[in-house]
Amino acid sequence: MSLRQPELFATAPAAEPALYCDVAVPLPIRGALTYAVPAGMARHVGPGVRVIVPVHGKRLVGYVLGVSERAPVGVPAEAIKPIFHLVEADPVFPDDLLRFLREAADYYLHPVGEVLRAAAPAIDRRQGDDDPTVAGTPGALAKGGSAAKRRASLKARWQRVHEETYVKLAPGVAASPPKLRGDKQAQIFSILAARAEVSMSELRQHVKTAKSVVDGLCERGVTELEVREVPDDPFFGAPVPRDTPPALTDAQRDAVDAITSAVEHHERAAFMLYGVTGSGKTEVYLRAMDAAQRKGKGALLLLPEIALTPQLVSRYRARFGDNLAVLHSGLGDADRHGMWKKLHRGECHVAIGARSAVFAPVRDLGLIIVDEEHDPSFKQDDHFRYNGRDLALLRAHRLGVPCVLGSATPSVESYHAAQEGRYRLLHLPGRATSAPMPDIQVVDLKRVGPKGPTGHELLSLPLVRAIDATLNRSEQAILFLNRRGFAPSVRCAACDQAIECPSCSVALVMHRREGTLRCHYCDFHVPFTNTCIVCGGSDVTLLGVGTEKLETAIVNSFPRARVGRLDRDVASGSGAEEVLDKLRRGDIDILVGTQMVTKGHDIPRVTLVGVLNADAALAFPDFRAVERTFQLLAQVSGRAGRRDLHGHVVIQTWQPEHPVLIRARTHDYEGFYQDEVAARAELGYPPFGRLAALRFDGVEEEQVRASAARVEAVLRAMPEVNAGTVKVLGPAPAPIERLRNRFRMQCLLRAAERPPLRRALTRIVELADAQVREGVRVAIDVDPMHML
Ligand code: ADP
Ligand code: ZN
Repeated sequence: MSLRQPELFATAPAAEPALYCDVAVPLPIRGALTYAVPAGMARHVGPGVRVIVPVHGKRLVGYVLGVSERAPVGVPAEAIKPIFHLVEADPVFPDDLLRFLREAADYYLHPVGEVLRAAAPAIDRRQGDDDPTVAGTPGALAKGGSAAKRRASLKARWQRVHEETYVKLAPGVAASPPKLRGDKQAQIFSILAARAEVSMSELRQHVKTAKSVVDGLCERGVTELEVREVPDDPFFGAPVPRDTPPALTDAQRDAVDAITSAVEHHERAAFMLYGVTGSGKTEVYLRAMDAAQRKGKGALLLLPEIALTPQLVSRYRARFGDNLAVLHSGLGDADRHGMWKKLHRGECHVAIGARSAVFAPVRDLGLIIVDEEHDPSFKQDDHFRYNGRDLALLRAHRLGVPCVLGSATPSVESYHAAQEGRYRLLHLPGRATSAPMPDIQVVDLKRVGPKGPTGHELLSLPLVRAIDATLNRSEQAILFLNRRGFAPSVRCAACDQAIECPSCSVALVMHRREGTLRCHYCDFHVPFTNTCIVCGGSDVTLLGVGTEKLETAIVNSFPRARVGRLDRDVASGSGAEEVLDKLRRGDIDILVGTQMVTKGHDIPRVTLVGVLNADAALAFPDFRAVERTFQLLAQVSGRAGRRDLHGHVVIQTWQPEHPVLIRARTHDYEGFYQDEVAARAELGYPPFGRLAALRFDGVEEEQVRASAARVEAVLRAMPEVNAGTVKVLGPAPAPIERLRNRFRMQCLLRAAERPPLRRALTRIVELADAQVREGVRVAIDVDPMHML
C-alpha cells in the first residue's frame, strides 16, 4: 500500500502504445481530467485506482475512471501531464461500486471526484508516508468543520475512555540519533522516527518486549512517555456471547421467507417491512442477513446514527460475531480504514452503519436493509447531498438484489410506493412479545390550562398527576421537549394553529431583524404585527422556542425524584450513554430531554412518556411537519412500557382536534397516511411531485441576493418553467438567514415528473459553478429534506 514512485526515466518500449487515463479529482469541476500513464505504472492503473496527480500546480488525490490508448483529441501530447504516484496498487473501488458511485454523482448532479472522495476510505497514514498532499488532502477536504464537530459529539455520546501510553522521541533526538543497543531498540527507534508518536500497545504488536525496551530508551533520555485518556471502541469491547434466535412468529416467518427467497434467486425487489416498534423487525433483519451469509453473499444494513447504540450493535454481534463491520462516525481514520479493508478483502461479509455505510465495499453483496427508513438523518445536508436510503435502493437495484426498507412509521413516499405495488409490503401486525401498546392521553391545554399546580408553563395538572403516580409505583418517566424550533413560528389562538403561508401550507417563520413573517418556500411575506393575517385575531404568540427552565421546574416540583437531563449540551459533555446507563440502572426517576430521548432506548421500568409541546413539531416550517409529528409521537410512545409493565403516554397540545393527534392517539398509521397523502396530492408535494432546492450562501448579503436573482432569471426563461411544467418557488431567504456568518437563500423547484426538472437543473449546473467563483456558493439539492 505504499506509494510507488513513477518510473519516469523508463520510457515505453516502441511496441507498447502510450496509455492515457481519465481521472476524477475532488474539485467542483464536472468532467474528468486526462493524464498520461508512465510506462512503469501501466500494469496497475485501471478504473477505481487512486492516484496523485498535478492540478493547477497542486498535487491532489484523484480516482481513475478509465484508461484509453487514444490521446485526447486536439491536445498536444506534451501538454498532457503524467500521473505522479499510485496511492495503492489495487483499486479502492471494485467495478460495480465505481459504476454505482458514478451513477449517484449523476443523479445528484454532484462532481464525481467529490462523490468518490466521500465514499473512499481515508488514506492509510500508518504507512508512514509524509507527503503533505496525501496526508492532508483527503481528510482535510472530507471533513467540514461541522462534520468534525458532529463526530466529536458522537464520540462523547458513546465512548468511555481508558488510559493509553504514548511514546515519542525526545526533542532533538531525531536530528542527532543516539547510539542504539540491539535490534529491538533500533526497530522501535525507526518506528518512532517515522511518526510523531506511537501508542505503547501498537509498539507491542511490533516488538513483544516493547515496554522494557522503551523503559531503557527513556532512561537514556531518547524517548518520552505521555499518558492520555483515549476512547474505547464502544462496539468491540468485551466479547458478546452468541444468542439463540427465538422461534419466529408467523408474520416474521412470512417476511423472512419472502426476503430470503429474493436473496437466493438474486431478485431485484424492494420490500417495505412495516411493523410497530417491538414487532420484531430487527429479528427479521438478522435472519435475512444470516440467510444471505449462508449463501455466501454479503449483507449491508443502514440505520440512523442515533440508533447505532452499543445495545443494538451487541444484538448483531451476538448473531454474527467477528464477521461484522460496524461503520460509525466515532471511528478514527485508521479504524475506518481497517473496517474498509476487511470488507474489501472479503474477510468479513456483514456491515452495519449509518448513512455513509451505503458506500461500504461489501463483497458479493446480496442484500441491503435500511432500518427506520423514514428517518431524516439518512439525508446528508452538506457537500455531497445524498439520501442514504435512496442510494441503498439504487445500489440494490443495479446489483439486481433485494432491498428492504423497514419502519414503524414509513415515510409517505415509501408507503405510497408500497401501495402502488412498486415495493412489496411485508406487515408485522403486532408486538413480538406480549407487551401491549401503551395508552395515549391527549391533554387539551386550552381546556385544562398549561399551568398545573407547579405553576410551570408546560406542566399541566394531568401530566403532574401522571408523574406522581409513576413515582409512587417506583417506575420511571421520560419527558420530551421539542426544542428544534430555533426558527420561531407564530400561533394564532383564534385560528387554533400556527399561521401558515396561504399558498404553500407551511408555517410562516418570524424574521426578527426585518420584523416580518415569511414563507421560505415562495417568499410570501408580511410585516409582523400582533394580528393574525388569516382571521385578524389579536391573540398571537411565538411558538417553538424551548425552555431550559424545565429541568429546574421538575426538580422543584418533585423534590423526591432523581432528575436527569439529556440534550445536545449534556451529550457533548459527559456523554449520553452515561445518562442512559443511569436510567437503565434505575438511578434516574425522571429524564428530561430533547429529540435524543426519542429513539431506540429499551428500558423496562420506563412506563410514562410525556410530550410537553406537540405543537412545536406541527409548527415546523416544512411540508413534512405533520409526517414528522406523527413519527415523533409514535417514536416517543414506543419508549413507554416495553416489557411487562403497562405504558402510558401523555401528550400536551393546544390543538387536540388536529387529525394527526387523533391518529397518533389510536396508533393509526394507515389513517394518518390517508390524510397526509390527500394533502400532498393537493399541493403537488412528494410523492406526487419531484422537488429540488437551490441553496445559495455567501458572506455578503447583496452578492447572495444578486446571484440568486441571476439564477432565477435564467430559470424563468426556460421553456419548462414558462410552460409551467417546472414551478419555481422563491428564491427566498432561508428560515435561518445567517449561519456561521453566511447569508443564506434558497429556491425550490417542483415538477410532476423527474425529466423536466432534471433538464432544468442540468442547465443550472454551469451557471451555479460560475457563481462559486464570485464568492457565492450555490448547491443543488435533489430531493431535499430539510428546508432550514
Ligand atoms: P423491532 O425491531 O420491530 O422494534 P425487535 O426485533 O427489536 O422489534 O423485537 C422486539 C422485542 O421482541 C425484542 O426484545 C426481541 O428480542 C423480541 N422478539 C422478536 N422476535 C421475537 C419472537 N419471534 N419471539 C419472541 N421474542 C421476539
Ligand atoms: Zn409560500
